[in-house]
Amino acid sequence: MTHPISTPAVTVSRTIERLVTGQATSDGAGVKLNRVLTQNLQHRLDPFLMLDAFGSDQPDDYIAGFPDHPHRGFETVTYMIAGRMLHRDSAGNEGLLQNGGVQWMTAGQGVIHSEIPQQADGVMEGFQLWLNLHSSEKMNAPWYRDFQNDQLPQFKTPSGVAVTVIAGASHDVQGAVTREITQPVYLDVHMPEGSRFEQTLPAGHNAFIYVYRGEVRIGGQAVPVQRMAILANTPQADGVVIEASADAKLILVAGKPLKEPIVQYGPFVMNTKEEIYQALADFRDGRLGEKA
Ligand code: MN
Repeated sequence: MTHPISTPAVTVSRTIERLVTGQATSDGAGVKLNRVLTQNLQHRLDPFLMLDAFGSDQPDDYIAGFPDHPHRGFETVTYMIAGRMLHRDSAGNEGLLQNGGVQWMTAGQGVIHSEIPQQADGVMEGFQLWLNLHSSEKMNAPWYRDFQNDQLPQFKTPSGVAVTVIAGASHDVQGAVTREITQPVYLDVHMPEGSRFEQTLPAGHNAFIYVYRGEVRIGGQAVPVQRMAILANTPQADGVVIEASADAKLILVAGKPLKEPIVQYGPFVMNTKEEIYQALADFRDGRLGEKA
């Protein structure tokens, strides 16, 4: 769908603070992935805790999926660019995530879920982003939504940039999900070579892009494929201007930092060690993920 586009409003663009390659790792029952946002960046990119990029046409890299495992204290956002994955959780939700769809799961006080590929071959590609919850929301009831690609708000700029608004807002188009405290923006941006895309961002919000096809430039500096660029929180900047030096695809992610202590133990992210011990005890005793 195409919406009327207001004049871009970025007068001073952020620059690139740092490029990040990520770490090859595996998770679940042996799914190969690139952990782009690693634990050492959790404070710098608060409220985001993790970004995994997965992409392979080798079934051995993904076929085992993610059998039953718990989460507490944050939200997971899975964007499936290509492939099919079935989600089931202890709150009774089930959803097939496929070809451009998004699953947004707020673990809150706890879910146990599985994420299992529904294909024996072909390409599986996408992202999983972890978004922290404020201390006042970590023990809320779980929440779940999935969106097929045609349920996600999309628009095209006059210069041909196609944008999917997963969260937050862009060019007056409201995304599928909004969150009051962390105010996340999550865009998938497809840019033809030579095009330009502007996104307004409050200077205090932490922001990054990850390029998954082609190459872009920000402030004259190149961001090659499979790189994250952390955007500087320049006080006078009111957004970011991205120029495509080739046909390019990227995600743009931004949010308001929580500025709270972060204590992570695997799939649990809380504010104190005591809360982690409680999560482990609740999981051990079957209290995590039980229906209210
Ligand atoms: Mn999970």
